[in-house]
Amino acid sequence: MCGIFGIIGHEDAARLTYFGLYALQHRGQESAGIVSWDEKEGSSHLHVGMGLVPDVFREEDLKHLTGETAIGHVRYSTTGKPQLRNAQPLLVRVRNGVQLALAHNGNLTNAAAIRRELENDGCIFQTTIDSEIFVHLIARALSCGSLEQAIVKACSRVEGAYSLLILSEGRIYAVRDPHGFHPLGMAKMGDSWVFASESCAFDLLEAEYVREVQPGEMIIVEPGALEYRSVRLREEETPVRQCIFELVYFARPDSRIFGEDAYQCRKCMGRNLIRESMADAECVIPFPDSGIYASLGVAQEAGVPYEHALIRNHYVGRTFIQPSQSMRQFSVRVKINPVRSMIENKSLYVVDDSIVRGTTIRTRVAKLRELGAKAVHFRVSSPPIKYPCFYGIDFPSPNDLIATKYTPDQIAEMLGLDSLHYLSLDGLLASVSHPERYCTACFTGDYPTPLPEVQDKMSLEYRRKGEVRFQNWPS
Ligand code: 5GP
Ligand code: MG
Repeated sequence: MCGIFGIIGHEDAARLTYFGLYALQHRGQESAGIVSWDEKEGSSHLHVGMGLVPDVFREEDLKHLTGETAIGHVRYSTTGKPQLRNAQPLLVRVRNGVQLALAHNGNLTNAAAIRRELENDGCIFQTTIDSEIFVHLIARALSCGSLEQAIVKACSRVEGAYSLLILSEGRIYAVRDPHGFHPLGMAKMGDSWVFASESCAFDLLEAEYVREVQPGEMIIVEPGALEYRSVRLREEETPVRQCIFELVYFARPDSRIFGEDAYQCRKCMGRNLIRESMADAECVIPFPDSGIYASLGVAQEAGVPYEHALIRNHYVGRTFIQPSQSMRQFSVRVKINPVRSMIENKSLYVVDDSIVRGTTIRTRVAKLRELGAKAVHFRVSSPPIKYPCFYGIDFPSPNDLIATKYTPDQIAEMLGLDSLHYLSLDGLLASVSHPERYCTACFTGDYPTPLPEVQDKMSLEYRRKGEVRFQNWPS
C-alpha cells in the first residue's frame, strides 16, 4: 500500500505536497519522498528518506524543492524491501535528457516476467520494486512516440494494480489501472490541479474535490492549463474491481473514495453485521481506531450503548510492522489497554473491522476474560480473510491467515469467546452503492486478473472443494 499526491501550477508546490503526504501518512509509514519541477531552472529536485513525513522533510529540504509542480509518495512496502533505494518517487532521465518522476500505488501481477525479459535485454534495474518496470517500459516506448503514447503503451504491458502520478517537464500524468483497484482523485485549488489517493488530502488544503480519475483513464495537465485532457488506456471494456478492503480498513474514514463516504460505509457494515448476529449484550466496545466506525453502526442498530473501553496508545506504530510474532503480540498490548471498570461483570459486543493473523483478538480477548467480562460476543465487520492479496494489501502468506486454518467456530472455541460472527459477503456488499464494482478476492479467492507469477512459482489451488491449499509459499 502507498499514498500518492501531486499538484501543478502552485508556487508552493512542494510544501503543499508535504501537507498532502501528511494527510496520507496512514497509507505508508516506511519512506516518503517528493520530486518537484522548476521550470525556470529546467530541472527536477528530489528528496526522499526513510520514516514518517515530518521526519523525512526539514525546512531546508522543502526550500530546495523549488518549482510550481510536484509529486510525492508515502510507502508501505508490498514488493521490495523497505530501504532507501526503494523509496519513491523514482526520478530518471530518459531520451534527450528529459526528466521523468513516477509515484506508484499498487502491485503489478506480471512484474517478475517483465523484469526478467527487460534484464535479459540488458536493462539495469536500480531498485527491487515493481514500480521501476514502468520507467523502463516508458523509456523504451519513447523511441516511437510521445510520452503520452509511451505511458499508454507501458500500461498495456503490465497487469495488476496501479494508481500512478508521473511528472515530466512540468506536466502531470495521473493514471488509474483499468480495474481501478486503488483510488485516485482530483481536485481544484484556484488555478492549480491537485491529485491524491484520498480526498482527506484535499480537505486539508481546502481544495475543491472534482472527481476520481476513472478506472482505465489517464488525465494530463499541462503547465498553465486551466483544463485537463483525458485519454483512455484501452479500447476494450474491463470490469471495474475496486479494492473493497480500502473501505473496510485502509482509507481514512473522513475520505471519499470510489464515490463512497468511507465513514458511512463502515457504519453500514456495522449495522448489517449486527442484524446478522444479535446477541444478549449490554454495550459495544470497538478495537480502536479501526473498529470504531462499525461499532457505531452496531450500537445504533442494536440499541445498546457504545463505550470506548479499549484505549489506544497513539504513540505506537502499526502492529504489522513488527518483525516477529512475539513482538507483534507485545506491541498489541502496548497499543490497546482495557478500562477495567467497563469490563468486569459485563456482557460485551467487541468489534473490529477485520481479523488477519488473529494477533489482536488473541491477545486482547484473553485480557477481557481476565478482567472478569461476563460474556464476549466478538463481531468482525468484514468476512474471513482467506486468500492473499496480489494487488497491494499487505496480507501475510495464507498459512498465517487465521481464517484459512480455522473456522469461526474453532476460533471462538480457541479464544473462549461466547460467540464470533464475521459480516457475510452479502452484508459487506450491501454496504456499498455499486457492489458489482469491487474486488473481493481476499474473501472469495475470485481474482479479477490472471496470476501468472503465482501459478508458475507455486501451485496455488484456490476454490477447490471450497478449501484453500497453498504450497511452497515463501514466508
Ligand atoms: P490481526 O491482529 O488479526 O493480525 O489483524 C487485525 C487488525 O489489524 C485489525 O485491528 C485491523 O484493523 C488491522 N489491519 C487489517 N489489515 C491491516 C493491514 O493491511 N495493515 C495493518 N497495519 N493493519 C491491518
Ligand atoms: Mg485495527
